[in-house]
Amino acid sequence: MAAAVSVERLLDAVELRCAFCLQFFSDPVLLAGCTHSFCRPCLLPHCRGKQRACCPLCREGFELKDLRPNRELAALVSLISEVVKEEEVETRDETKPSEAVPCNDRSSVGRRPREKEYVDRQERNTLKFIEQEQKAAQEKTEETIHQLYGEANKLTDVKAQMVSDEAAEYE
Ligand SMILES: [Zn+2]
Ligand SMILES: [Zn+2]
Repeated sequence: MAAAVSVERLLDAVELRCAFCLQFFSDPVLLAGCTHSFCRPCLLPHCRGKQRACCPLCREGFELKDLRPNRELAALVSLISEVVKEEEVETRDETKPSEAVPCNDRSSVGRRPREKEYVDRQERNTLKFIEQEQKAAQEKTEETIHQLYGEANKLTDVKAQMVSDEAAEYE
């Protein structure tokens, strides 16, 4: 899920949707003056019949011949929309009835995928919480054991010291 987070951040940081159609850009063009981008099919009707049009977002004037295909944006959009599509597929997979569900029960599963998704998520969160608790407990135990080992080592050292002291006395 690490990828999902970075994609969301990217979507926040970079405008990947056209202000006209509110969809991911398709065939984006860049207005050189103000650096706003729009889908070509969305922008062209806006400037039809005009020598000079103005940016629908900031009103900065531009000429049709100044439009530049925004290839970087197009590449980014196709990349991102692929990732988003994959995530949608993953989400759909989660709602698929599991193999354990008997055939005659399929209708109820198909009817309530949202509830199932919610329950699945709750289950995952709970399991994750238990896992974290177990891990914390284990770490605590390991720490205690480590401390006890330290104490034991000290005692061993003391004992060794006593033995060598004793041996020294007999010399
Ligand atoms: Zn558009
Ligand atoms: Zn603009």
